[in-house]
Amino acid sequence: MASVTLTVSDTMYETIKNYYSDYCIAPPQHAIFSATPKDCRITIYKSGKVLFQGKAAEQEASRWQDVAQKEKKTSHSLPCNFKDLAVIGSDEVGNGSYFGPLVVVAAYVPKSLHPFLLSLHVRDSKTMTDIEMKHIYTEIKDKVMYYPLIVHPKKYNEVQPKYNAVHMKAVLHNRVLARLEEKVKAKGLPVDALLIDEFTSTKSYQNYIKNEHPKPVTQTFSTPKAEGEHLAVAVASIIARVLFLQTLEEESHAVGMTLPSGAGTKSDQVAAQLIQKYGPKVLENVAKLHFANTKKALKLAKS
Ligand code: MN
Repeated sequence: MASVTLTVSDTMYETIKNYYSDYCIAPPQHAIFSATPKDCRITIYKSGKVLFQGKAAEQEASRWQDVAQKEKKTSHSLPCNFKDLAVIGSDEVGNGSYFGPLVVVAAYVPKSLHPFLLSLHVRDSKTMTDIEMKHIYTEIKDKVMYYPLIVHPKKYNEVQPKYNAVHMKAVLHNRVLARLEEKVKAKGLPVDALLIDEFTSTKSYQNYIKNEHPKPVTQTFSTPKAEGEHLAVAVASIIARVLFLQTLEEESHAVGMTLPSGAGTKSDQVAAQLIQKYGPKVLENVAKLHFANTKKALKLAKS
């Protein structure tokens, strides 16, 4: 009987599972998913191995081979037991939103916190609603050690002309990681590794932070989609999102208008209304001025 084995990531596992959900059967021992489409039996194991068996094994496996290959190439060399390590993860939110701050958060997650976090369904924030994240935040904020930095628009606009967006993020990630590492170690708790949700190459990151101190002493990894690699990044990203939303709400309150997140035409329109109400200077306190939205809003406000 023909058989093909692939090794896949968590994200790809979800994709494969969804794809064959109509053919799902009870998985055998040690497997987490099993399906029987026409002439094939597919079994996915905890290790990330996917086994295709039967006449159509090659045909079914070929749907996923290219993606699996690509994933391998872009994969980062995280130690294989990485998920079980005590990790400080970091992520940022607000980078792509015209209104509101830039928020960078580091969070510490040792293995002992996994059952608690999983019981709250902590996962990739991109698959969660704002309401869900706010709920999780209230549940975890006193139980998880984290360190946030909120760069309000006023400060952002002062710094931005000197630092490009990547430079600014690198400095902030370094800072939250170093501060939280210090806090965790001061409590006598172990830190095995640091993980950054990658926004630039390791080389460029290291270059941007070369004159920063303190720097963390623990080995630092960075990988794209790090939220799926360790709960510490998933937690950091949820906290960052909630702090971003809270700050955006405060700013909205201050100007008496609901400020949208994002950088679409809605942002242009609201910015134009703000200009008409208070004059263009108001944007310095609530928006990231270097975005193209500023020009569009100024034009709209005149028309
Ligand atoms: Mn990120």
